[in-house]
Amino acid sequence: MEPLVRGKTLGIFGGGQLGRLIAEAAKSLGYRTAALDASASSPALQVVDIPIVGAVEDADAALKLAEASDLLTLEWELIPVKVLELAAKARPLYPAPSVLGVIQDRLTQKNFLRKHGFPQTPFGEATTAAGWKHPVIIKRRTQGYDGKGQCRLDRESDAPKAAEVLKAPCVWEKLVDFKAEISVILARGRDGATAVFPVAENLHRGGVLHATRAPARIPRDTAAKAVALAQRIAEALGHTGVMAVEMFLLHDESLLVNEIAPRVHNSGHYSLGGCATSQFEQHVRAVCGLPLGSTDLIEGKASMVNLLGDLWANGEPRWKTLDAIPGAKLHLYGKPDARPGRKMGHYTVVGAAADAEFERADERLKALRG
Ligand code: ADP
Ligand code: MG
Repeated sequence: MEPLVRGKTLGIFGGGQLGRLIAEAAKSLGYRTAALDASASSPALQVVDIPIVGAVEDADAALKLAEASDLLTLEWELIPVKVLELAAKARPLYPAPSVLGVIQDRLTQKNFLRKHGFPQTPFGEATTAAGWKHPVIIKRRTQGYDGKGQCRLDRESDAPKAAEVLKAPCVWEKLVDFKAEISVILARGRDGATAVFPVAENLHRGGVLHATRAPARIPRDTAAKAVALAQRIAEALGHTGVMAVEMFLLHDESLLVNEIAPRVHNSGHYSLGGCATSQFEQHVRAVCGLPLGSTDLIEGKASMVNLLGDLWANGEPRWKTLDAIPGAKLHLYGKPDARPGRKMGHYTVVGAAADAEFERADERLKALRG
């Protein structure tokens, strides 16, 4: 199939910050953009040419998006597969709905990884609040993100803590004692060509990404192993577009897959400004059938710090602190209400100052909060 012609419309399922950043990249490549979200004030609907308000679960709304678009993609993996299948009949959709069918349910995703022999922590279906070899993490099979719908049980007597989470179908996972969390962001084109971004090293707080640095401080052959693993997963999935594989790096340098995100990913935000091609532009290139761009780090290093709603606790953050850092790039997503834990924006620093900025993130956030 030919690349999507400039001036045609790329339609995005979902209106969050990922959709907004995809739309901005698509626009600068010369495409028109549309997006579907339940809220007219969502980050992406503020910037696309054709905003469509409707629930992503709503088949009629999905068809409206399809009619307004020449090609479809998504920024969020939790759109019902049936809705995506319907849309895919009307317009080309990348990634294919079947990819989402594997990813959406944690149990299906883990079984897929097991079937293909990819390394993971021991897991199983969690139907009751007992019977595990502690410590474990209980996770909702569907609809979980940013650490939501999860519960950590360190010992048998913690079982009651899981009652709320266990109201929906869950999986259990053995808790991993990791040395580091890393992620591999790659793009796979419609022709199967792949381009991989430098391996990212991630720090999470309370299940939410806090900061990323790239390249990860890991041996070269460990990075190569991680990249090969992610590429094999993308291949096995038949994925098209950008994809992230979150991994745990263990003390013996072995790797376990934590989870797959079939979309652009928070841990790839450093590429926006940090790499020759951002993950957002790369995603647009991949789904529109353009050649993939260079993923080289422009200044050798980059880091990214997330700005959560908690920063607004004392009113508007003191932006002066960030504005004064030469080279720091602020990206706010335009979300109207700053709730605690909500991702409101991020900032990046590239080049020589990136490592220090990663180490100094907490100090900066404290100063920002006022
Ligand atoms: P989400 O979809 O919310 O990102 P994850 O499964 O990635 O869910 O879990 C969020 C974070 O919780 C991970 O990045 C990691 O820090 C921690 N975590 C999740 N599962 C495990 C595990 N089995 N062992 C240790 N830490 C874990
Ligand atoms: Mg995760």
